Amino acid sequence: MADAPGYARVSIPEGQWLGGNCLVSVRLGVDAGPERQQSAYGERLYEFEIHAAQLADHDLLRSLRGSHVCVRASAGLAELTHDTAALMSQAECVFVLPPEGQVARAANILASLGFRVHLDASAPVVDCSALMAATDYYLFNPVLRTPVQPFHALLEHIAQGRGYTLWDTESESPATDFYLSEDGHVSLARRWHSAARLYGCVGDSWDALVDSPPRRRLLLFRRHLFLEQSPCVFCADLDVCGGYLRALDPIADCSPWRQVFSRLRDEAEQARDLLAREPGSSTAPCPPMDPRRPGTSRDGGEA
Ligand code: SF4
Repeated sequence: MADAPGYARVSIPEGQWLGGNCLVSVRLGVDAGPERQQSAYGERLYEFEIHAAQLADHDLLRSLRGSHVCVRASAGLAELTHDTAALMSQAECVFVLPPEGQVARAANILASLGFRVHLDASAPVVDCSALMAATDYYLFNPVLRTPVQPFHALLEHIAQGRGYTLWDTESESPATDFYLSEDGHVSLARRWHSAARLYGCVGDSWDALVDSPPRRRLLLFRRHLFLEQSPCVFCADLDVCGGYLRALDPIADCSPWRQVFSRLRDEAEQARDLLAREPGSSTAPCPPMDPRRPGTSRDGGEA
């Protein structure tokens, strides 16, 4: 894989060097060495990604101090101990949780410890009641100070028309996001690799990868929805979903997430009504932010 340009954000396995100006997310392996990656990539290092089992490696957690870290955890949070939480609090941490089981409880625990939480909208299995419980926790917990994603970005989109869809919040923006797998294939993201929807291989030129038919199709995804008269075209949630939930499987059940969108729309509507009754209130939109790092604008400044 040749040097990647500055507009790209590439998720790579540890041990794979990627030149150019792109941002890099490094998925740390078993014998993880974050320091090597930090010195190799410097300012280009967007974040580290670790999985739940690695939370038991306290030396690793210490070495992640001050870094942006994405933790792929379970909804049961079995891996999170008091010591682990203390160590992770020294990093800029977001926990990505599957929408299942006790995920609302997990979000509550994590948020009360000051961690950011992100429910994984790419998860193939969705427990509707668990997802709705997490949505209600985000909307109605009066002491919540930490945005829970993707609810927060989608609510802002619904309320203020920021233009973010699930493609943005799930790091699957075809214009910018790339995923290099452990077996050397390049695709949009993890789920696209699992479905063998590939741009090419690590040995291909950058031009060949970005101009590959699968990527060109993804860049024009919405146009294809219309050309193929997908049911998504007639969906009232196309503005926030963009067809993301059925992008790999045209008959996937997107009804659980549609209930989330509906709940967010109801709340946005009520908030608008309240603001309209407030004398001197303004509904002007705020500056755009990075949907994965709330409070930070896309160009890196504070929103
Ligand atoms: S919610 Fe379902 S039907 Fe609507 S745009 Fe998304 S994938 Fe398509």
